[in-house]
Amino acid sequence: MSRSNRSPMSIGCPACNATVSATLPPGPGIVETEAEPHPEDENRLRGTDARCRNCGHELELYFY
Ligand SMILES: [Zn+2]
Repeated sequence: MSRSNRSPMSIGCPACNATVSATLPPGPGIVETEAEPHPEDENRLRGTDARCRNCGHELELYFY
């Protein structure tokens, strides 16, 4: 029974359809806002970059 929070994610490159794997940082998955959420913080998603090894296309991944 081994559970890893850092499971690599496979994404299809939109440019060449190759498989791009990106590792998401560990986290609860859901980020809760603090006491009073500000409208500007509403769109604050965490993101990471991944680059396709085949064509060099850069992907931006956003997650909660
Ligand atoms: Zn590609």
